[in-house]
Amino acid sequence: MFCGMVSGSVPSPHWIARSDRAFAFLDIRPIRVGHALVIPRHHATDLSDVTPDDWIAVSRLVRDVAARLRRKLGTDGENLMVASGPGSEQSVFHLHVHVIPRKRDDDLRWNDWWQTKTSSPAASELAALARKVRED
Ligand SMILES: [Zn+2]
Repeated sequence: MFCGMVSGSVPSPHWIARSDRAFAFLDIRPIRVGHALVIPRHHATDLSDVTPDDWIAVSRLVRDVAARLRRKLGTDGENLMVASGPGSEQSVFHLHVHVIPRKRDDDLRWNDWWQTKTSSPAASELAALARKVRED
């Protein structure tokens, strides 16, 4: 579906910004007003197959969209979210970054989700994991 929006075969009257490599539009089921999605124009399933240049283009457009949303909606922050790969509960398999506008004291409790992180591992365990991930 996202590829269709880029090509024009699927209408996207709710597009908000675009560049030569990326495309941004409003989510049809927003968490907050102005919740936007930014996608690469060339199909990539997730972070494992997006080209570095396309990912950079997505990042640039995310930054532009965030600034635009602050200016137009009077918000003063945003949360970014990417579900990448089957293990992440990704549901649409064309890489997309959620840009969720936030305002101080709004009623979205992002921390309720963030606080579900696990308890701190032992320092030695964390160091061993860091070594494992760092090594080529
Ligand atoms: Zn696609």
